[in-house]
Amino acid sequence: MTIFLDNNATTRPHPEVVRAVSEALSEIWGNASSVHGPGRSARQALESARASLARLIGAEPGEVVITSGGTESNNAAIFGRCRVAGNQRFHIVTTTIEHPAVLSVVSDLEEQGWDVTRVECGRDGRIATESIRSAISDDTGLVAVMLANNETGVIQPVGEIAELCRERGIHLHCDAVQAIGKIPVDVEQLGVDTLSISGHKFHGPKGIGAMYVRKGVTLSPFVLGGAQERRRRGGTENVPLAVGLGRAAELAMTEIDSMEKVRALRDQMERRLERSSEAVINGQSAARLPNTSSVTFPGCDAESVVIGLDMEGFAVSGGSACSSGRSEPSHVLRAMGLDDAAARSTIRISLCKTTTEDEIDQFVRAAERVTGMVRERVAG
Ligand code: PLP
Repeated sequence: MTIFLDNNATTRPHPEVVRAVSEALSEIWGNASSVHGPGRSARQALESARASLARLIGAEPGEVVITSGGTESNNAAIFGRCRVAGNQRFHIVTTTIEHPAVLSVVSDLEEQGWDVTRVECGRDGRIATESIRSAISDDTGLVAVMLANNETGVIQPVGEIAELCRERGIHLHCDAVQAIGKIPVDVEQLGVDTLSISGHKFHGPKGIGAMYVRKGVTLSPFVLGGAQERRRRGGTENVPLAVGLGRAAELAMTEIDSMEKVRALRDQMERRLERSSEAVINGQSAARLPNTSSVTFPGCDAESVVIGLDMEGFAVSGGSACSSGRSEPSHVLRAMGLDDAAARSTIRISLCKTTTEDEIDQFVRAAERVTGMVRERVAG
């Protein structure tokens, strides 16, 4: 049995989510837009899931649009906001450490002639509010900043950035995909205009997520088609997966306290890795998600460490799994000032609420063996 420590890539669906989805697949198969009985059952299940999601983030149900996941939500919020502006192109501010689901959208807009500024983070992986303030100009119409980084777990000052944006009437989009279920997320406290959520990052199903759209904010729909989701997203609603997403949201709310236990385990693991395997922890001085650890093992090629750990029965990833298959070092680690060699010697370990002390104990010992072997091979 693999010990799964790659929970920022995806999470195992909670057994109650699996049960809810499979029951919904066989029982709630109506089209939520139909007026007859099966349609009404589907509509009821969908609205109940929406209400659970809304509670999770402190929103109103009407502010939650169900999407196919984090990537679509980021596309829908950014393209949707820009399409409303039409020919009145504005300046866009984002950061160099966003997920590709934001970075590629912004690059696409740049190719179409939109003016883009990408703000750098500090060595600790944190974006300074002052850097966003300096990047904003009179022409800025959109700022996109993630709540927590997927590779380092570093939490960004989104609440402060929202104040800046509000003063100037600028739309703030926040990719909160990695934060949901790990730290409390409240859209009112954050003050964001749009926010992305992905089911499979908090023990829900894959291929389903949501976009929060603050009441009064107009977006041009990204997926055109029918009048579903109050004309905000076309396509027959995926009710069974939405039911699973709703269940995951409820569980995330009741089980959020268990993340403090995860933090203690993560911190203990880092201390031991520093001692036993000469590990350097990236972003350690910043506020971080409780489950995430970006660890550099100097002199060790990350790919060999990931493979070695896999052979020992542990799943971790080198940099970000979403960008694996590409051989360039992580853009996030480079943005934090790590040189090429350090970035290529870095792995990401991400725990979840079911990770045990015994698993972490076994992992630390395996990491010591594997990094020792990789270093010996390099030396020899
Ligand atoms: N945003 C962040 C920060 C992520 O980590 C990911 C996935 O890794 C996504 C967006 C994409 O979400 P999804 O897999 O639901 O498309």
